[in-house]
Amino acid sequence: MREIVARQLKDVSTRDAFCFSVRCAECGGVWMSRIAAFSKAGTTPASEGKRIVFGALYQKERERARNAAIRQAMESFNCCPICGRLVCNRCFLICEDLDMCVRCAVRLNEHGAPVLPPLAEAVK
Ligand SMILES: [Zn+2]
Ligand SMILES: [Zn+2]
Repeated sequence: MREIVARQLKDVSTRDAFCFSVRCAECGGVWMSRIAAFSKAGTTPASEGKRIVFGALYQKERERARNAAIRQAMESFNCCPICGRLVCNRCFLICEDLDMCVRCAVRLNEHGAPVLPPLAEAVK
C-alpha cells in the first residue's frame, strides 16, 4: 500500500514549501498534503558554503515532508484489491465480503457504502 501511494505521489513543492498531491484513479479528484514550510524559506544563503548547506537541508526536509504526505494519503486513499487502482475514500466501498472501488462493485454486482459520503451529501 505504501509503495503504491509513493508511486502515485506527485511533488508540487515550491522553493519555500513542500506539498504533494495524489489523484484518485476513479473520480479524478486531487488530494493535497498539508503544506510544510522549508525552514530556510525566504533566507538568502550568505555564502557559497551556506548555499550548499541550504540545498542539502532542502532535500532532507523534502524527504521528511514526502514521508509525512504518504502517511496522510494512506488515510484518504485505498487500494482496490480487484483492479489495484488507488482510489479516494468516496470511491471506495465497504462491502459485505471484500471492500472495493465503486467501478469494480458495479462490475461484480457487489453492494456497499462508501468510506466517505459523496461530496454533494457531505455539504448538506
Ligand atoms: Zn475518488
Ligand atoms: Zn477496483
